[in-house]
Amino acid sequence: MSNPPSSSDFLPYGRQSIDQTDIEAVCEALCSDFLTCGPRVEEFEKAFAEFVGAKHAVVVCNATAALHLAMMVAKIGPGDRVVTSPNTFLSSANCAAFVGATPDFSDIDPRSYTLCPKALEANWKPDTKAVIAVAYAGQSADMPKISRIARAKGAIVIEDACHGTGGGFKIDGTVYKQGAHPWADMTTFSFHPVKTLTTGEGGILVTENDEYAASARLLRTHGMTRNPDDFSGLGFESEMGPWYYEMHDLGYNFRITDFQCALGLNQLKKLPEFIRHRREIVARYNHAFAGIPWLATPQLLRAEDRDEISWHLYSVRIDFPALSKSRSQVMAELREKNIGSQVLYIPVHLQPYYRKTYQYGKDKCPEAEKFYAEALSLPLYPLMTDDDVDRVVSAVLELA
Ligand SMILES: *Cc1c(COP(=O)(O)O)cnc(C)c1O
Repeated sequence: MSNPPSSSDFLPYGRQSIDQTDIEAVCEALCSDFLTCGPRVEEFEKAFAEFVGAKHAVVVCNATAALHLAMMVAKIGPGDRVVTSPNTFLSSANCAAFVGATPDFSDIDPRSYTLCPKALEANWKPDTKAVIAVAYAGQSADMPKISRIARAKGAIVIEDACHGTGGGFKIDGTVYKQGAHPWADMTTFSFHPVKTLTTGEGGILVTENDEYAASARLLRTHGMTRNPDDFSGLGFESEMGPWYYEMHDLGYNFRITDFQCALGLNQLKKLPEFIRHRREIVARYNHAFAGIPWLATPQLLRAEDRDEISWHLYSVRIDFPALSKSRSQVMAELREKNIGSQVLYIPVHLQPYYRKTYQYGKDKCPEAEKFYAEALSLPLYPLMTDDDVDRVVSAVLELA
């Protein structure tokens, strides 16, 4: 694991891990017959599905497209409501708006920052057709409870596991991986460079459902098919020769390239090691920060999950008034020591678009808003050395 030496010793909150084998895999793909629509796409899908233990995997140009496809294949549309948690990236909610449905938000559990089953049930509206449970920082929500609530009301469950690639959770000694447990109908993962595995841009939709998978494949490439078994011939009186293709649905170009999939395939081999190192850094941080009265380290819903989570973020809560410093001040002080930090995320329901379009506002999700006021993500990525981690620890301790 060795990136080319970077120009400064700045530690960002997240970054990719690229080594010579990644570079060689991409170069090999660039010299092959296919830059896109070639064999590496399917190869990556197969390898990823096998890795997580899922039946189908449909790889696309980014996870936003994967979430969009999830909405489309489940036929979510105008008149439908889709509920997610607000402390997430915009896409988890925007995907509902893409298809004309109403994105809505339910509050989080204050320990895990994931969708709170009680809040979900208490605020349930009869037009809710889908729940998107975000695995914040990599930690899954209480998926069994969430799916029980949603499915009893006839809604589907999508796990947005964009933070959690390769991770999972444990219940009564049994390990369930994101993308392969029975409490989600579909699961999405992101391969953006800050996430745990990268293809530059990229995302994947994973499901056990044959129809969802087939539909997602079709919609990924304009809703068109060249497979004679699928042809309807509708409206064509002339010869259906070797050039023939049909468009069955209004799809998009959500394809990913072969050289990105080559990168994904090579990254996948290293993913267990990436995850192991991420867990190690999280454990070091947790230990070092345990006694700080103005800082709360990440909490687990289930202690059993400790060795299952694929941590994307290390987000702490800081009592800024107790520290007598604003968050901007803290970020600036860290930045002076060449340490990056980030706030993840601004609650989506408070974004101007959401206030304007859906009349959402403050106090809609008090726990998520409280978390936002205190949240700060510190550097976490596999290439960090022990010295890097120590540097972050010292800088945080020196804030007081
Ligand atoms: C990164 C992310 C996405 C979007 O992923 P892209 O690949 O950048 O489109 C969606 N949801 C969550 C929770 C994310 O963190």
